[in-house]
Amino acid sequence: MIFKKCPYLFALKGYGLFYFLVFILAGCGQGQPVKETRALMDTFCEISCYGGDKDKTVSAICAAFKEMERIEGVFSKFNENSEVSKINALAGLEKVAAGEEVFKLTERAVYYSSISNGAFDITVAPLMEVWGFVRSHKSMPDKEAIENALEGVGYKNIELDPKELSVKFFNKKTKIDFGGIAKGYAVDRARDILAAHGIKNGLINLGGNMFALGYAPGNKKWKIGVEDPINKGKLLHRFELTDMAISTSGNYERFFEIGGKRYSHIINPVTGFPCQGIVSVTVAADSAEQADALSTAIFVMGEKEGLNLAKSIKGIKVLMLKEDGRLILY
Ligand code: AMP
Ligand code: MG
Repeated sequence: MIFKKCPYLFALKGYGLFYFLVFILAGCGQGQPVKETRALMDTFCEISCYGGDKDKTVSAICAAFKEMERIEGVFSKFNENSEVSKINALAGLEKVAAGEEVFKLTERAVYYSSISNGAFDITVAPLMEVWGFVRSHKSMPDKEAIENALEGVGYKNIELDPKELSVKFFNKKTKIDFGGIAKGYAVDRARDILAAHGIKNGLINLGGNMFALGYAPGNKKWKIGVEDPINKGKLLHRFELTDMAISTSGNYERFFEIGGKRYSHIINPVTGFPCQGIVSVTVAADSAEQADALSTAIFVMGEKEGLNLAKSIKGIKVLMLKEDGRLILY
């Protein structure tokens, strides 16, 4: 059934969603969701809402997508006219006036750097470029290219002036990349829009960054199953959530292999190399931004340090799959 107000919207029968290694496990036959999927932020986003007036739900979903598309336009590293691209082009030379939204998310990204001892660091941007994760052709860079990029890496290179809302980089090679946090931020904003439109129950899934609003049909908690990326079809764990977010960072999303070794898009800002040893980290938290930043941070920090960080933060749950097959649940 196509709704005229929004060309992409359609209602779905059943709940057999499969999405980025995450299963939504809910009973069937208890009302039809209004659901839409769009390409967004270099991945796919699906919003499904349950219950309530259909026309109002359609408008709510459209408004939520509009907001996420706006956010993509602000933070995209692929669009040279985005605010972040403009900061990257100039902030190594002079103070750049930032919009409040970019300024505040940069501040919060720096906060995640400080609590993760620099493991989460949006200044990995030069490394993302040399490893080719910004271009379509990924390749093994030479030692000099990594060392050269590393000169600009380090969150302490970011100077933020809260009075002027300006951003400056202390190093000319510094650039910022919001890939590890912007999707979570966008999901939180989409959740706010849905809630402001009176939506009580639904799911937002932006490339594995999810928010579970309210309850699943039957007034039960949402059951989100994380699929084993190695043994497809098997679940690693089932989270039961209500008004909570969940985010997965994995080495199987964007990567390339040379000589049987996998190089993934999550980079250790100290060594300049893609992180090894972990297949995936899933974090459940109150906000999608927190879950997004922490799943990336814990992926970089590894088992010992990462779980110590998790223990220091109230209300989060962590699932970690190691390359040696061990599964850790905290
Ligand atoms: P995620 O899938 O949320 O773990 O984010 C991975 C993305 O975050 C990458 O594609 C990069 O854009 C960016 N990124 C890579 N390494 C880091 C890091 N150490 N800290 C913060 N962001 C990173
Ligand atoms: Mg992340």
